[in-house]
Amino acid sequence: MKIAIYPGSFDPITNGHLDIIRRSSKLFDKVIVGVLVNVDKKGLFNIEERVELIERVVSDLPNVQIKSFHGLLIDFMREEECKILIKGLRNVTDFDYEYQMAQMNKKLDNDVETLFMMADGEYSYISSSSVKQVGKFNGNIRGLIPDSIVDDFEVKIKDLRG
Ligand code: ADP
Repeated sequence: MKIAIYPGSFDPITNGHLDIIRRSSKLFDKVIVGVLVNVDKKGLFNIEERVELIERVVSDLPNVQIKSFHGLLIDFMREEECKILIKGLRNVTDFDYEYQMAQMNKKLDNDVETLFMMADGEYSYISSSSVKQVGKFNGNIRGLIPDSIVDDFEVKIKDLRG
């Protein structure tokens, strides 16, 4: 069985992330979306909420599973007995960062392969942080994140508006 892990913060999941998940789910028997627990960074949504929102938007994809993890991605991959890592690439800034990460992960576990998937042109400008920035100042975030999570986003972002 070919299993791939797609890791990230997903605070919140965007249409760009969802596109990568959908495309990956066609290529692998199972895709695990790994939601990174970053104890140093308080997000808009807590980890349980992020997992729940992703579960909601991938409910039509039976071979996609959502799990949270903390610590090294390589250790999470070992636990899941997975050797394939999926990363989305939006631009050269992503590339610079991800290339370094891929080399480090390879150094930590030589069996791990990082596969890069180019962002769809329609979504390549979207990041979770830019969505939060737009939302914070009352901008329209429709089309940037899945419709089914817009209400949850609006409730949370209201707190940031003060
Ligand atoms: P963000 O940068 O939006 O906060 P994450 O850090 O959670 O997202 O990113 C997780 C993964 O998804 C990374 O591999 C990242 O390059 C990729 N990614 C993020 N946004 C997009 C997008 N709009 N299209 C394709 N891939 C993306």
